[in-house]
Amino acid sequence: MNKYIEKVLNETRAKNANEPEFLQTVEEVLSSLEPVIDAHPEYEQVSLLERMVEPERTIEFRVVWEDDNHNWQVNRGYRVQYNGALGPYKGGIRFDPSVNLSIIKFLGFEQTFKDAMTGLPIGGAKGGSDFDPRGKSEMEVMRFCQAFINELYRHIGQDIDCPAGDLGCGGREINYMYGQYRRLVGASEFGALSGKSVTTGGSLMRPEATGYGAVYYLVEALKLHGDDIKGKKIAISGYGNVGWGIMRKALELGAKVTYFAGPDGYIHDPDGVDSEEKLNYILEMRAKDPMHCAPYAEKFGCEFVAGQKCWGVKDVDIYMPAATQNDVNMEWAEKIAASGVKYYIEVANMPTTNDALEFLKKQEHLVVAPSKAVNAGGVSVSELEMAQNAERLYWTAEEVDEKLKGIMKNIFNNSVEVAKRYNLKRGDKYDLVAAANILGFQKVADAMMAQGIF
Ligand code: GLU
Repeated sequence: MNKYIEKVLNETRAKNANEPEFLQTVEEVLSSLEPVIDAHPEYEQVSLLERMVEPERTIEFRVVWEDDNHNWQVNRGYRVQYNGALGPYKGGIRFDPSVNLSIIKFLGFEQTFKDAMTGLPIGGAKGGSDFDPRGKSEMEVMRFCQAFINELYRHIGQDIDCPAGDLGCGGREINYMYGQYRRLVGASEFGALSGKSVTTGGSLMRPEATGYGAVYYLVEALKLHGDDIKGKKIAISGYGNVGWGIMRKALELGAKVTYFAGPDGYIHDPDGVDSEEKLNYILEMRAKDPMHCAPYAEKFGCEFVAGQKCWGVKDVDIYMPAATQNDVNMEWAEKIAASGVKYYIEVANMPTTNDALEFLKKQEHLVVAPSKAVNAGGVSVSELEMAQNAERLYWTAEEVDEKLKGIMKNIFNNSVEVAKRYNLKRGDKYDLVAAANILGFQKVADAMMAQGIF
C-alpha cells in the first residue's frame, strides 16, 4: 500500500473511531487510489487526501415540531457539506431512525465522488434526520419538514447547496421543504431543492431517474462483455423509487425483474414484473405499507419467501442490490459467487460490506460494478432540474431521458478508460470499482489543486 494513503487512513481511523460506516467508505475509496497517488507525489505536499476526507462543513441542529397530540417532539438534523470544489453542494436528505453523523458522513463522502463522476458542476453533500416518517400523519410530516427547513434554509440556496431526497424523503417531503424555504427567503428560488414535483418546478422523470440510469449503466456493462440486455432476468433488493425504476426500464428494454426483496422477504415471479398492472400495483402496495411486499405474491399468484434475501438464486443473469447499505455481507457474497451469475451491479449506496466486495471482485467469472457510478443518474437528473430552474423552463421527459442516457454512457466509458490507463484488471475484467473511485477523485483533485489551498 502507498505510504501516504496508509498514513491518511491511520489518521482517519484514529480521528473517527466512533464512525464505522464513514470509516468503511474511506477505506474502500482510499485503498483503490494507489495508482493515481503514486503518479502524483505533489498531492502529499499539499495534504490533498487529508483535506478530502475532512468535510468542509458539518451542520448539526435541533428540529422541534408539534405532533398531532400537541406534544413537542425533538429530533436531530444534519447537513454535511463535504466538498464544494466542483460546484454547489449537492446530495440527498435521509429521514430514518438509523441516521447519525457516521451515516451522513459516509454518504457525503461517497456523494462527492459520485457527483464528480457525472461531469456536471456539483459538489458533494448529504443530510438528514433521525426522524421516522413511518406511521406519521400527513400534517406531522409537513410540520416536521417545515421545522427542518427553519434551520437548514440559512445554509442552502441555488448557488450554495441544493438538497434532494433519499431514504424516507420523497417528492412530498421535498415539496413541503421547498414551500417553507420559499416563505422564509421570499423568493421563488427553485434551485435550492431538487426532486420537487413538476407542479413546483421539479423535473420530469426525476423519481425514476436513479433506476433508469442504473439500467443504462448495465446496458453498457453487458455490451462490453458481449452480452445484450434483451431476455435477461434480474434479481433486485428494494422496490422503492430506485427498484421500481429498474423494473420499468428493464421491461422497456426487453429484460425483466423476476425476483425482488423487501423488508419482509422476497418475491419470485417467474414471468417477471412484466406489465403496467404489476408496476402500478407495486406503487399502490408501497404507498399503503412500505414494509411488506408479500401482498404482491397473493395478488399475482407467485411465490413469497418470508424473512429471506434473494441473493444466491441461480435462475437470473444479474443481481442488483438496490435497498440500503451493507445488504450483502460475506455470507451472501459466498452464495452470490457460488450461484454462477455473471453480473453484480451495486445500486444502493454501499450495499456491500468491504470484505464481501473484495471477495466478489476476486471472482473471475463476475463483473462487479460500483454503486457510486451506477446510481449517479439520480443526482444527474437533480442537476438537470437545477439547470431547468435556472433557465425557467421545463424539458420533456424524452429530453431528460436522452440526457440521462448520455451521462450514464459517459460515466461507464470514462471508467473503462481510467481502468485501461492504470491497467486496473482482475483476470480479463476491468476493475470498475477502483476505476470509478479514481475517476471521481481525479476531477475533485484537479479542481482543488487549481483553486489553491484552503
Ligand atoms: N440521494 C440521491 C443520491 O444518493 C440523490 C441526490 C440528489 O439528487 O441530489 O444520489
